[in-house]
Amino acid sequence: MDKISIQSYLAQLGNRKDPKTGAVSAPIYLSTAYGHPGLGQSTGYDYTRTANPTRDILQEGLAVLENGVQGFATSSGMSAIQLAFSIFPVNSHFVASRDLYGGSFRYFQDMERKGFYSFTYVDDPIDIASAIQDNTAAVYIETPTNPLMKETDIAAVAEIAKKHGLVVIVDNTFYTPLLQRPLDLGADIVVHSATKYLGGHNDLLAGAVVTNDKALGEQLAFQLNTAGGTLDAFDCWLLVRGMKTLPLRMKQHQANAKAVVAYLESEDLIKSVYYPGKGGMLSFTLHDKAYIPAVLDALNIFTFAESLGGVESLITYPTTQTHADIPVEIRESYGLTDDLLRISTGIEDPDDLIADLRQAFAKAAVTAKV
Ligand SMILES: *Cc1c(COP(=O)(O)O)cnc(C)c1O
Repeated sequence: MDKISIQSYLAQLGNRKDPKTGAVSAPIYLSTAYGHPGLGQSTGYDYTRTANPTRDILQEGLAVLENGVQGFATSSGMSAIQLAFSIFPVNSHFVASRDLYGGSFRYFQDMERKGFYSFTYVDDPIDIASAIQDNTAAVYIETPTNPLMKETDIAAVAEIAKKHGLVVIVDNTFYTPLLQRPLDLGADIVVHSATKYLGGHNDLLAGAVVTNDKALGEQLAFQLNTAGGTLDAFDCWLLVRGMKTLPLRMKQHQANAKAVVAYLESEDLIKSVYYPGKGGMLSFTLHDKAYIPAVLDALNIFTFAESLGGVESLITYPTTQTHADIPVEIRESYGLTDDLLRISTGIEDPDDLIADLRQAFAKAAVTAKV
């Protein structure tokens, strides 16, 4: 078969996987145990933690999407990150982006407190050279950063990391492989919170790990089977279903984000807008943080909620939600202040999103004056 585009590939994900029935939508294999044809023989499936046919379809799709050799589906984004770190020995040191998802930072802090690993945080990962130690094992990058939307040059970081023999791990949740393919830029492992854009419907908790290195793939497979943080068959099917429309959704998320950014830049109450020029995520600060409760209260289409990447538009207040575990001094030192709101644009009509924001700001301005 000729190589088809990623859009066509994803639309067909799971089709032609069940020749016996011709099912177009891949079957959900709930069986945990698989009978053996005879002693020393296997159908390729023994026990569902080790391998499951529905999960295999998803994992193949994840590997293709990120242009890797092996993909893994995990029970959450955090378990994907935990899986990636589980391949390193105790006492390893890591260099990580400063502006990180709060849950990743919490996990790193916990590892450090227990004496398993140590971390050095850099404002711009391009400065990794000065942070590298004898026991540095890997560089961990989130780009664009969350919630300040700063981009990191993955290729430049990977080039430096390779000179020091370091593994490069990239959290690609925000851009998705449609806008950025870290493995093509020199990274070794990509992690995702598939709860976000890959799933896309705010109804599924899942994670993904993809590598383009066979040896790393074997270590990840061993760890995943050993620790057991796999994704169950039903959720694998939900994720396959979500990924079929990823290209369509991303187009609309991005178009909506651009429209909302253009509006916010013209709105008097707004101090600055943070948008890297692509994707569906943006943040903004207000001249007066006193407006924030009234704005959140007045919104009708945007839901005040954690998370991102789904068809429904969400608005988040990072300092009390996603990033609450980052100490005030640390987050303020890199610009994550309490006058900042983060938006994940859904796939609604952009005019409705803008109208919703406009009326909320107008109401907040009136409330604040009273
Ligand atoms: C949400 C998120 C995670 C954690 O994923 P879960 O699916 O919530 O466990 C990790 N990284 C980023 C960038 C995220 O947005």
